[in-house]
Amino acid sequence: MLELKNVNTYYGVIQALRDVSLHVDEGEIVTLIGANGAGKSTTLMTICGIQHPRSGTILFKGKPIHELPPNEIVKLGISQVPEGRLIFPELTVAENLDLGAFLRRDKDGIASDMEYVFSLFPILKQRIGQAGGTLSGGEQQMLAVGRAIMARPKLLLLDEPSLGLAPIIIQQIFQIIQKVNSDGTTVFLVEQNANQALRIAHRGYVMENGCVTMEDSSANLLASEKVRTAYLGMEA
Ligand code: ATP
Repeated sequence: MLELKNVNTYYGVIQALRDVSLHVDEGEIVTLIGANGAGKSTTLMTICGIQHPRSGTILFKGKPIHELPPNEIVKLGISQVPEGRLIFPELTVAENLDLGAFLRRDKDGIASDMEYVFSLFPILKQRIGQAGGTLSGGEQQMLAVGRAIMARPKLLLLDEPSLGLAPIIIQQIFQIIQKVNSDGTTVFLVEQNANQALRIAHRGYVMENGCVTMEDSSANLLASEKVRTAYLGMEA
């Protein structure tokens, strides 16, 4: 479904991605783990068209997307939940969710997807008229995931959904990600919380200093001495 081939992304003279190659197959949950500053967010922003690679290719369903603007990429079926949630604090829950569907015209589909989001996150239905900025951190993350689902993506990109959340909320969010995947959405999950991410993903990649340094099934990565020492000790 998604393939990055030798992608190099720069911020001015700083090279953030070095020859990154990875792929996500339809139906999978694939995770990209790595330390702070490894280049995980840059990978997502390069897929979404917010940053353009200086060289390399990105194919989505066989079509090159690395020169497209973000709105074209959303239209093709890629939707991102950005790091730090970035919901609209002054808008209500319903308005935030509506914004996720702003490129769609199918009113019935939008209404049924909103019900789907409420079935995943019943608390959002209870908070439907409340301003997004007044929600708890966990609820805001749910809203950010819900808003991305409202675009009805084929591929959902998530940037550190566990960041700053209590363990019980993290578990809930990860269960919902698994549910969304089993309902038919392919997922690419960027996480520092390697333990949780590898527990729900089918496969994973490890990123260090802008390079992909390991690639394997989640079970093998969880069992790997290197991953255990470098990444699994980091979490509470
Ligand atoms: P984190 O988990 O902290 O978000 P990350 O793995 O997502 O880290 P990136 O945010 O992709 O890493 O950063 C990769 C590198 O690019 C880092 O060295 C970072 O300092 C640099 N970088 C990121 N954004 C910019 C920017 N706007 N301008 C210049 N350098 C940047």
